Amino acid sequence: MRKDRIYLDYNATAPLLEEARAAMLAAMDLPGNPSSVHADGRAARAMVNAARRQVALLVGAEPSHVTFTSGASEAASHVLSPDFKMGRASVRVGRLYVSAIEHPAVLSGGRFAADDVEIVPVDGNGVIDLAALRACLASHPGDNGLPMVAVMLANNESGVIQPIAAIADLVRAAGGILVVDAVQAAARIPFSMAELGADFLILSAHKIGGPKGVGALISRGEMLMPAPLVTGGGQEMGHRSGTENLIGIVGFGAAAHIGQEMLASERERLAGLTRSLEDGLKAAVPDAVILSRDVERLPNTTFVAVPGLKAETAQIAFDLEGIAVSSGSACSSGKVGESHVIRAMGGDARSGALRISIGRGTGPDEIERFLGVMAQVATRRERAAA
Ligand code: PLP
Repeated sequence: MRKDRIYLDYNATAPLLEEARAAMLAAMDLPGNPSSVHADGRAARAMVNAARRQVALLVGAEPSHVTFTSGASEAASHVLSPDFKMGRASVRVGRLYVSAIEHPAVLSGGRFAADDVEIVPVDGNGVIDLAALRACLASHPGDNGLPMVAVMLANNESGVIQPIAAIADLVRAAGGILVVDAVQAAARIPFSMAELGADFLILSAHKIGGPKGVGALISRGEMLMPAPLVTGGGQEMGHRSGTENLIGIVGFGAAAHIGQEMLASERERLAGLTRSLEDGLKAAVPDAVILSRDVERLPNTTFVAVPGLKAETAQIAFDLEGIAVSSGSACSSGKVGESHVIRAMGGDARSGALRISIGRGTGPDEIERFLGVMAQVATRRERAAA
């Protein structure tokens, strides 16, 4: 990364960790295909399985329950399926219930028909409405298959942490399947699959300092699994065919390992930086509104709305000053769309909010420089309004 720029957009993607880079460079020199039975193949297989153990350990799962994919979006498309197998028996999932603030990878409903996807609202803080979820599950038409609920552990825009254990109780009582998108929570807050009560977890390597284009679907057991999305040679225990992305998987494993080792210290350090960032914001721009400030959030994420300042305009101003932050959710086209998260929270989606998300490379200097530019941007807003 260029040294003169300040990167405060870790929720979009985290810079590659040095340890992941080194592990990937070593993996690049391996000639073997992990499916080959000769020594070269076995060496590659051993690396894939070591990474599987590292990723499993990060979320308290069994290594054999980790299926590597091309990212969280593929993992979501894989698991959000009406067709499951329990051993050899077919299991039908009739309806998918998703929270209104899910990432598009989940909100789009995977392999469910649009009519079979129901959106569950959130409150003004962006926390799922448990009573609404309970009502959805109570009126689930059981004759067409099981209910499936997909809720993220932490939101990518607001950082709000969802009450997954309470959601799991509701899903369990309804005999349903719970899918948890843990992409933003992984390596930022401690959790385990068992604690969450999730049946499936979705992870992405590039949010934890691994490479882009690799992720995982993790199951609680091995009996109940969705129909494969990618079929062919039967790799990944038949759950995801195609020669494994050895280099990416190895980088993912290394990032998971470091993420786990550093979790406790980084969590505390980032929470301290976020506190000083938010206190500084309130001091520099007293009318700034830090969204979801009073509910449990990730230690690295601040989502702030400034009255009279369009977040997109502010983002451009920051970019010109060499600081990368985000506003709304960037679409693949590079355009910034209105935030469906702010809309679901009943906020002003047209003005949007700035998201500042920090990580391993952030220190007090970066926060100070951000606050300095924020003060300038707010002054310009006042001048424009005068
Ligand atoms: N889920 C969440 C919460 C995300 O933030 C993202 C990425 O922005 C995804 C899923 C999709 O991840 P990937 O880029 O690996 O497909």
